[in-house]
Amino acid sequence: MSAISPAEYRTPVCSMDVHQISKAREDEESEKFGYRSSNFKWFGESVPESAKGECFMCGHIDTLSISSMIKDQIPISCPQCKRKSFKIHDFKKWEKYVGLKLWEFDLFSDQFKMQYIAYNNGNNSRHIIGLKGDQSRGLLASRVKNKSELENSLMHLSGLCYSAANTHELHTRIARHENHIWIDMCDDKWRAIKITPNEDWKVEEKPPILFRRYDHMKPFTAEQGTKADLDAFLKLINFGGENVARQKLLYAGYLATQFLPDIQTALLMPVGPSGSAKSTMSVLTRSVIDPTTVREITLTKNTDLPMTFMQHRLPVFGNCGYLTQEQSDMFCNLITGGSIYKRKLFTDSDSVQWTFMHSTILNGIAPPSLAPDLMTRTLKFELDTIPTAFMRAESDLMKDVDALMPRVRGYLMQLVAEALAGPLPPADRMTRLGDFGRIGDFLTTKMGWERGEFLNAIIDTGIESSQEAVEADYVGGILLAVLEKNGDNWDGTASELMNIMIVNGLDPKNPNSPKTTARLSDAVVGRLKTGLGLFKYVVGRGKSNGKRTIVIRKLEKEQELRSST
Ligand SMILES: [Zn+2]
Repeated sequence: MSAISPAEYRTPVCSMDVHQISKAREDEESEKFGYRSSNFKWFGESVPESAKGECFMCGHIDTLSISSMIKDQIPISCPQCKRKSFKIHDFKKWEKYVGLKLWEFDLFSDQFKMQYIAYNNGNNSRHIIGLKGDQSRGLLASRVKNKSELENSLMHLSGLCYSAANTHELHTRIARHENHIWIDMCDDKWRAIKITPNEDWKVEEKPPILFRRYDHMKPFTAEQGTKADLDAFLKLINFGGENVARQKLLYAGYLATQFLPDIQTALLMPVGPSGSAKSTMSVLTRSVIDPTTVREITLTKNTDLPMTFMQHRLPVFGNCGYLTQEQSDMFCNLITGGSIYKRKLFTDSDSVQWTFMHSTILNGIAPPSLAPDLMTRTLKFELDTIPTAFMRAESDLMKDVDALMPRVRGYLMQLVAEALAGPLPPADRMTRLGDFGRIGDFLTTKMGWERGEFLNAIIDTGIESSQEAVEADYVGGILLAVLEKNGDNWDGTASELMNIMIVNGLDPKNPNSPKTTARLSDAVVGRLKTGLGLFKYVVGRGKSNGKRTIVIRKLEKEQELRSST
């Protein structure tokens, strides 16, 4: 055999085609792991299936299969002359692939540009872990020699992940994927429950890549259940206030709709004196959807809300009092699926718009101060104090709950399977909670309530709570008083309005007071406009003597005015 010239030697003889994958290897893998690479894009597909090498001494050229390298190390003995002079091309790369067993990984980014590893753990299940987290360090630690090699490998994987540009949208606990709803069971086998329209729900051993997990999440189990199980669960909640029957209906509809991942639902707000079990109601509600070891989150001005929304499907904030305008906006964006801007980024990207769409629970002794637009998306539950004689230890209560919970979930998921297939009630009644109203109405009808009852109930509550929100709003409350004194109308500049409001008690030093007349004008014509409409006030802008004015009229007076002209 003739010697290879240096020029020929540099010619790559091993093609690094990332899209080639041998059918044989895929079959072998699917048998071994239960997954088919082409379905799930295991990282295995970006490692070439074979490598070529040649002997420096005798010039022998040979092809090495990846499986031979998985079994042994990269060979250095020449298969022909048996001397230790056999060298494969891209040796450094192969050394890394083999050392890390890269074919066991799938690298990808989620919608927030955070990087993940999906890997077969050999237990016939696929795990998904953050590339930057402790778990991936643990996974790689046994495959490298020392700490600096570990850091280098992580950097290498991060680079591969970036260049692979493989993206999977990830969710916490509940996801919609191809018209099915998936619920992460958070068990060791990474199983998930799949809800199929018009069929039922069932446990899937090998779900697609859909979920990220956090340490606080507890397993979600379910069994076939009936209406009786839901009724038994509803008995554990201490509904109070004026209309217990309506509260029960609203709550049942709310609970069932929480299994639907992409509809705007409502914020749940249990309110009551201490001893009214508002924490218990919050915790019970959450454990139906998203069982966790975290009890209640304390809301402070430093709470990282976007991060909390990401890590919890139904976060519970305990004993809420004051919410800043920014927090109020974030809660509103959470419910409506609006973008949340995160300032302190920990992701790999400079600017990421975060979007979530799910509910949350805020409880307190008194309703926390919420912006009117958030108030219209809030279901408030007033709870009574439980007489001491009837108070049960929470540990005792939780025993009942644990026994009941799998069947309550099973029953609700079965209803959700029907709701997915529809037909839903027509959208003939506009509420701000459109889909929530329609789907909630469908679900509660299946539970035995009359058709339309749920819709009527949320319309009534919506109006009640937004009127309350305007009254409770610092600017709104004083404005209503000014309007009443002023013959139910206003026509003047923003600075004139500011002055008369100060006369009526507006304290410019109050943190909720508008800092400028322009801000006051924006608040009245923007934030408070819808709420004022519920008091039959029409709000608009006008012009008088070349100055911009704010015009507010009581609706009946406006109509009288029109009919007289
Ligand atoms: Zn040789």
